[in-house]
Amino acid sequence: MTIANLNIVPFVSVENMMKLVLDIGVERFLTDLAAYIEEDFRRWELFDKTPRVASHSHDGVIELMPTSDGQLYGFKYVNGHPKNMREGRQTVTAFGVLADVGSGYPMLLTEMTILTALRTAATSAVAAKYLAPKGSDTMAIIGNGAQSEFQAIAFKALLGVNKLRLYDIDISASRKCANNLEGLGFDIAICTTGQEAVEGAHIITTVTADKQSATILTDNMVGAGVHINAVGGDCPGKTELHRDILLRSHIVVEYPPQTRIEGEIQQLSPDHPVTELWQVMIGKTAGRRDPREITLFDSVGFAIEDFSALRYVRDQLRHTKRFDELDLLADPDEPRDLFGMLLRQAAKEPA
Ligand code: NAD
Repeated sequence: MTIANLNIVPFVSVENMMKLVLDIGVERFLTDLAAYIEEDFRRWELFDKTPRVASHSHDGVIELMPTSDGQLYGFKYVNGHPKNMREGRQTVTAFGVLADVGSGYPMLLTEMTILTALRTAATSAVAAKYLAPKGSDTMAIIGNGAQSEFQAIAFKALLGVNKLRLYDIDISASRKCANNLEGLGFDIAICTTGQEAVEGAHIITTVTADKQSATILTDNMVGAGVHINAVGGDCPGKTELHRDILLRSHIVVEYPPQTRIEGEIQQLSPDHPVTELWQVMIGKTAGRRDPREITLFDSVGFAIEDFSALRYVRDQLRHTKRFDELDLLADPDEPRDLFGMLLRQAAKEPA
């Protein structure tokens, strides 16, 4: 099956996304996706950019994340509800659309829960390529939930990280993560405290979920030269790092107007200097400036990363059958005769 009919919209279900990822291989998917993300970040100035549109409630947030490069338009619907996990549901779940700017017609509708975990991990690993100390092979992962394995595999694929130190307040999450990563070439230690997890780590990934600000890392836990990949703090009032760490770090962000609202830097004054990741990628600003510097990627997740992911999936569908055909677009014989189409249907199916 190929996408031949312009009036059908390819739909990638969760099942088809899993098959697509497995067809390609998780490591290769992450590496290829990272290349798409880099390509789009390098043409950053072309894109329409806006902080995501967030609807906050007592238990979580629902967000819309739109962007366009003038040819294609993409958006993602995503939630963040830390309490869901205790009720047997995902903390983060998502779907997204890619559309043709010329006609306004949707070109792809896809699940994005799995795709978000992949794009978040790929973005973290791309950032670390520019920021982590050379030769980094050991990473602490604090928070061993849904995102954690994807982070581990992306750092292995892009940086060669092969030693993991896992910590979660719920040890069963660390055991799950270690079991899932068995046989993938990692040397894994399960730790009983965050302090133990960061010992000897070149990279510290924090990817915990809590509705409020937490202090996953205190200042004394972070030594010179470490790279911090802070993924879990991504909403107003939801942070993971002690403010003193931020004051000692070279902070790199995706899109400052969004990160100042949602990221770790919401704890700092609005004019605290930050570096934009795209500027590091194009060589306009230095990434890691010296071996003793603490670098911090204050990840919140930006629409362009989802756009890259949608674009990547759309390109894969050109040569796979991992989609269903969705009858989403009305297609009357004469475009103005929408009502006539309804009448013809009524004639076919009398009440
Ligand atoms: P999850 O609920 O599946 O896992 C979170 C894990 O964190 C759980 O195992 C929980 O026990 C653990 N945890 C909570 N508090 C902790 C603490 N104080 N110390 C150690 N562990 C702790 O959630 P997930 O889908 O893995 O998402 C993790 C976080 O990442 C969420 O906050 C989510 O909003 C965020 N996220 C960010 C991005 C981004 O682009 N930056 C993308 C996706 C998810």
